[in-house]
Amino acid sequence: MKLTFLGAARTVTGSCYLIEVGNYKLLVDCGMFQGSKLVKAFNEKEFLFNPAEIDAVVLTHAHVDHSGLLPKLTKEGFKGTIHCTKSTKELCSILLPDSAHIQESDAEEMNRKGMRAGKKVVLPLFTIDDAADAVKLMKIHDFGVEFSPVPGVKCTFKIAGHILGSAFIQMKVQDGKDTTKFIFTGDIGQPNQPIIDDPASLEPADFIITESTYGNRKHEAYDKEAELAEIVNDTVKRGGNVIIPAFAVGRTQVLLYYFQKMIAAGKIPEIPIYVDSPMANKATEITLTNPDEYDEEARALYVMQGRRLVNMQNLHFTATAQESAALNHMDSPMIILSASGMCDAGRILHHLKHNLWRKECSVIIAGYQAEGSVGRKLVEGAKRVKLMGEEITVQAKIYNMKGFSAHADKEQLIAWYDALKETPRCFFVTHGEIDASMVLADEISKKIGTATYIPHFGDCAEIHGNEWIIHESTAAQEEEAAMELKAALANMESDYLKQKSKVEQIITRDADKAAAIKKKMDKLRKYMDELLSDL
Ligand SMILES: [Zn+2]
Ligand SMILES: [Zn+2]
Repeated sequence: MKLTFLGAARTVTGSCYLIEVGNYKLLVDCGMFQGSKLVKAFNEKEFLFNPAEIDAVVLTHAHVDHSGLLPKLTKEGFKGTIHCTKSTKELCSILLPDSAHIQESDAEEMNRKGMRAGKKVVLPLFTIDDAADAVKLMKIHDFGVEFSPVPGVKCTFKIAGHILGSAFIQMKVQDGKDTTKFIFTGDIGQPNQPIIDDPASLEPADFIITESTYGNRKHEAYDKEAELAEIVNDTVKRGGNVIIPAFAVGRTQVLLYYFQKMIAAGKIPEIPIYVDSPMANKATEITLTNPDEYDEEARALYVMQGRRLVNMQNLHFTATAQESAALNHMDSPMIILSASGMCDAGRILHHLKHNLWRKECSVIIAGYQAEGSVGRKLVEGAKRVKLMGEEITVQAKIYNMKGFSAHADKEQLIAWYDALKETPRCFFVTHGEIDASMVLADEISKKIGTATYIPHFGDCAEIHGNEWIIHESTAAQEEEAAMELKAALANMESDYLKQKSKVEQIITRDADKAAAIKKKMDKLRKYMDELLSDL
């Protein structure tokens, strides 16, 4: 049998694994690549397999970096079944059409400009119809109940504690006389996350394909409610708004849950809270109607509040674009939660445009920000950002609240693996930027005492009983080289900024000299920006 790594290899997004056994081909996840231009370009590439030859897909969870290319797969001939949990199907039925809508309007926009420039017509990656077709192929399974997506392969979904419906997959593959057991972690949540249950325990496996998003980090343990309350109260005092770019699925509901608790406890005033994302509105409804996945605390609250987990008088859901635009003319203070969580699309762009330049406002970044995203630039202290073609100066207070992560950190992952009763043969470390994957791989070999491998895009593990080898691929060498170059440039940029501030401190006494040097520095900075965006 063969296991090929076709995404989330040395990068976070685009999760996709191909399993070939006998005459059958099975995918685990079929995610979209997100982040920098270079990473996104993978979405346009041809699949390294024929979609019509894929018999089934097993989907860990609804996040687009795991499910986002299912419409493309369907459009290109896939006719099998997509196996997932109930809430994953419900969430995909809003996430995939939304992603298709973005694809369609991006293509439309490019064509509008392109036609004027005499360029060829661009087709969207997939359409809303393709997304609907993909959802129609979804078949739901309960957690803990084994199913067989193709003959010889048995899978069980286990609670991953990452977002509603999220599962890790226990997979048994029968190849002739050989049985090989796999765990595909999908994304693993940190224990004690609000609302949803903790990740289930790991069963023994030969190979574990693990995510490593926070493989080199430790989540700060601190009182998030207290910090949120402080930010809200401080912003209210300054007379500004609190803008929160929040992933529509998961983070928005967690934040609402916290706000509800804080208002009930009198820790923050009852100011208007707007959820301004049609997707977040729907995702919140799905969260409120799937109480089976709640943890004990959430279940108790759900029962106490008359079977409604979030129930606030000051909470408003905006539906239309007009209602959204109207928020920009309303009096402060208010809290606006909007998507996308990485600030690279959606209504959040408008709210950032109208609030980033106001020093009385606050922006809370409460989630993972991919390299190249506007969110990442804000976290890294950018003084200006480009939003919808407009340069916006950053005056608002930017808070980076890290502990909200829906991903387990290094120690939490190691503790989770450590409960394994048998040592696996190898950990394949995926779904992480290379530094994170390397640190986690190192820690796994030290603490768990197991072989590790960080696959490149296209690498294939061929497994026959106790024997297994890796066939290395050259499918994405150019991209990886470019990514390394980009990382090097980013390092140079941070060195440059350090040097710049040193120089600035030294020359403050001579205004003329300072102005001349500043001009040169800005020129250099502009050149570096061009280099980086060129990548
Ligand atoms: Zn996820
Ligand atoms: Zn993911």
